[in-house]
Amino acid sequence: MKIISVAGARPNFMKIAPLMEAFAAHPDIEPMLVHTGQHYDEKMSDLFFRQLGIPEPDINLEVGSATHAVMTAEIMKRFEPICVEHKPDAVLVVGDVNSTIACGLVAVKLGIKLIHVEAGLRSFDREMPEEVNRVLTDAISDMLFITEKSGVENLRNEGVDDERVHLVGNVMIDTLLKNKAKADESDILSELGLKPRTYAALTMHRPSNVDDPAVFGRILDAIEEVQKDLTVVFPIHPRTRNNLAKLGLADRVEAMTNLRLIEPVGYLDFLKLMSESKLVMTDSGGIQEETTILKVPCITMRENTERPITIEVGANQLVGTDTGKILAAYRKATDGNGYDPQTPEMWDGQAAQRIAQIIAKQLG
Ligand code: UDP
Repeated sequence: MKIISVAGARPNFMKIAPLMEAFAAHPDIEPMLVHTGQHYDEKMSDLFFRQLGIPEPDINLEVGSATHAVMTAEIMKRFEPICVEHKPDAVLVVGDVNSTIACGLVAVKLGIKLIHVEAGLRSFDREMPEEVNRVLTDAISDMLFITEKSGVENLRNEGVDDERVHLVGNVMIDTLLKNKAKADESDILSELGLKPRTYAALTMHRPSNVDDPAVFGRILDAIEEVQKDLTVVFPIHPRTRNNLAKLGLADRVEAMTNLRLIEPVGYLDFLKLMSESKLVMTDSGGIQEETTILKVPCITMRENTERPITIEVGANQLVGTDTGKILAAYRKATDGNGYDPQTPEMWDGQAAQRIAQIIAKQLG
């Protein structure tokens, strides 16, 4: 059974790694890997392949940066002939980026079975480009693998057949558990001159936060206060860095003496940074899940989350972007009281194994 797996952007790589490993070990699966090139440089792509032991992609579509429509169209144009030539039995896509919907659409139009890993998540916010990608990909997928029970309910509410839906746990957590010991050896803290629990880790890249100067400004107001107490380490996403300059906010950030703006770091360094921090402030999807397992308090600076389990288990506070609310959550996260998150069901490091077994059984 030939399966083409697709990865395109940073948050895909930690999801695809355990799947490629499980597929390579399965006697009935012949894996192929296509990189769309949505993220392409050393810091956002190559480093992850090396650190996570992901095999060299069989094909790289090299689409690079572009508008949503151009990128999606280019990926489709370049992926179609690959499916025609290699005739896979299934195409597997992960997450919610443009590569996910683009390759999914190509596959189903060619009559190839489509598998979506990390299906069913919903923020119910259609202004979020990822939400559109999620809804559309799930609607055309033959097999849907789910990380948390809200995903099962969401798909049921959208009329998806129960037979297609499999709650299997979280491949991103497979990668975290596998690499935690290696990450513990990272020198990033000494390189940055940091001591455990004396700093906050910050990431931000959602368009709703970094494209609008008013929203970005409100978040910076909160960060300005936090960095008076605690060093804030901010590995900055390329999109956010561009916007800082474009929106005229670079000087403000530079003036915060206890805010450490650094380039995006590799997976192992980032895992180490998160796990030794006092808290994590973010608008990322995956980081809400990783902090839940690392047992580091997380503050999510968004109005909604597609990962409600992280809140239910007591790991994550969803606070929006109001300065006062961010600071109240910061005080709550650092007061040392009442933080004792539970581990979500099946976030145990075995999700990719379960997925490989179910695929082999159903498609075999
Ligand atoms: N990450 C990383 N280096 C960084 C920032 C994030 O390795 O400097 C990892 C993080 O641990 C998680 C993934 O990148 O595994 C999350 O990606 P991102 O926040 O870009 O995407 P999202 O999860 O929001 O889709």
